[in-house]
Amino acid sequence: MGTLYVVATPIGNLKDITFRAVEVLENVDIIACEDTRVTKKLLNHYGISGKKLISYHEHNEEKAAEKLVALLKEGSDVALVSDAGTPCISDPGYRLVKKAWESGIVVVPIPGPFAGVTALSASGLPTDRFLFTGFLPQKEKHRKEALEEYIQSGYTFVLYESPRRVLKTLELIHRLAPDSDVVVAKELTKIHERFFRGKPQELIKVFSDDSSLLKGEFVIIVHPVIEEESDEDTIVEEIKRLLDENKKTGEIAKTISRMFNIPKSHAYKMVLKVQKE
Ligand code: SAM
Repeated sequence: MGTLYVVATPIGNLKDITFRAVEVLENVDIIACEDTRVTKKLLNHYGISGKKLISYHEHNEEKAAEKLVALLKEGSDVALVSDAGTPCISDPGYRLVKKAWESGIVVVPIPGPFAGVTALSASGLPTDRFLFTGFLPQKEKHRKEALEEYIQSGYTFVLYESPRRVLKTLELIHRLAPDSDVVVAKELTKIHERFFRGKPQELIKVFSDDSSLLKGEFVIIVHPVIEEESDEDTIVEEIKRLLDENKKTGEIAKTISRMFNIPKSHAYKMVLKVQKE
């Protein structure tokens, strides 16, 4: 049986690779990669040649995973890489790794760059607890629902975003939680690396004033701040109105949670408090 190495590669700056990753890439028989041109560039940079590259991407994942597991079973060592960063993180790889474990193959991670954590580490936002959420869903309705869920978690959350949607996403964050602290990290580890920090509205202005900034790769990090205090009176008024309509506690809590974008448990407690008064 061969070994499957899951190897993290640079997210821009080719120097961001570990000694161990280079050693593994030098020693394996096969490298499973997304775009062979991207991986060849990395291999050439480190003087690695003579490797068999097998294309493994989101459109052939299932078939390629089967083929690779068969080769591993025959004794070949395989390195799984993606175009950038850590495989399986908003990138293909999961199916192969799962199949490998299920087939009794040893899987060894070779840690390295991950754009989400790279951005987070320099963001200056709270990092004690965070959610990595990857790309938002495509559809507007689902994007909003997903963001609402992340905001309500109260955790700092880390999004991947295409340059075409950065502004739209900032606008949505502004609509849902305007007091949040946001960091937009652009072109990490590359020449044009930049960090933009501020409230959603401030960042909307920055990117609207200079749309040439909306090029490259982006990570958006949000520390959600939900305004609860100043809305308290309005919420209480709304609860009283719904109680007057003889609505049930759970039903009111659900409505309040949706209307004011607050966690359901918090809404429930508020309804109980108003009922007791
Ligand atoms: N597997 C990768 C990782 O470990 O971060 C992520 C791959 S995902 C297909 C690509 C997305 O990651 C980009 O659209 C961008 O949101 C983010 N990303 C990757 N490299 C980046 C960089 N150098 N600067 C900013 N964002 C980056």
